[in-house]
Amino acid sequence: MNLTNYHSHCSFCDGKAPMEDFVKSAVEAGFTAYGISSHAPLPFDTCWTLKAEKVADYLQEIERLKQKYAGQIELYAGLEIDYLNERQNPAMSYFQELPLDYRIGSVHLIYTEGGEIIDTDTGLENFRDLLAKYFRGNLRKMVTCYFTAAMQMVEEGGFDFVGHADKISYNASMCDPSIYEQEWFVRMLREYFSLIAEKNIMVEINTKAYEAKGCFFPDVRHFTYLRELKIPVLVNSDAHRPNLINAGRPEALKALLKAGYCSVRQLEKGQWTDVPIVL
Ligand SMILES: [Zn+2]
Ligand SMILES: [Zn+2]
Repeated sequence: MNLTNYHSHCSFCDGKAPMEDFVKSAVEAGFTAYGISSHAPLPFDTCWTLKAEKVADYLQEIERLKQKYAGQIELYAGLEIDYLNERQNPAMSYFQELPLDYRIGSVHLIYTEGGEIIDTDTGLENFRDLLAKYFRGNLRKMVTCYFTAAMQMVEEGGFDFVGHADKISYNASMCDPSIYEQEWFVRMLREYFSLIAEKNIMVEINTKAYEAKGCFFPDVRHFTYLRELKIPVLVNSDAHRPNLINAGRPEALKALLKAGYCSVRQLEKGQWTDVPIVL
């Protein structure tokens, strides 16, 4: 039944409950595998990342839960690692040397032309303010900054799958609903997904916003193209609350079947494996 999830948060970062509560929910829902992936530390303080000095505790807690729930569910240690720049990204040796089962590469933060770092993964009102303040309303410029960073991240590698590959698109489409049809946007997205295919990286279908906003990341419009490129996909809820670990999963699997996918990737005994989609 493809009851798995490899993108999740907990109180070690910005998740709203202790790690074990998520694991209990996963066991109760009949999940066969569950990966914990707190936001990795950044070189500055934020209210949403795991603190660098807490990384050892984080890994130890996952290890404790792996042992406690052995035989009930396969648990995996991951991190959602931000691409910030050439020095701070998933490929850096610090993250490569951590004893993780897998790594997620995500872009939330981008540099403005003036060199400030802004968070594009934000509410629509704040997004509009950032667009006006740092890009003088030039949406194309702001969106291009996001995908340029995402492509640099894919070039550098060091991670298993791209987290919410086109996250900025939802806010951008609220500012300009025609964006999905604009030639420059279509071309850039095709270039981005082609690069992902070339580098043999997986893409998650992130269902976090499905219930509230009715969309996946990447957007369902791209699924057929991902399939054409033979990019392996996995379905993840990016849950920040234990009751949402399964949100949007059946809908995403249905949309994948419609786009021609027959299987999704799942970690089985530590190996990424193609598993048929079963609804
Ligand atoms: Zn994220
Ligand atoms: Zn996340």
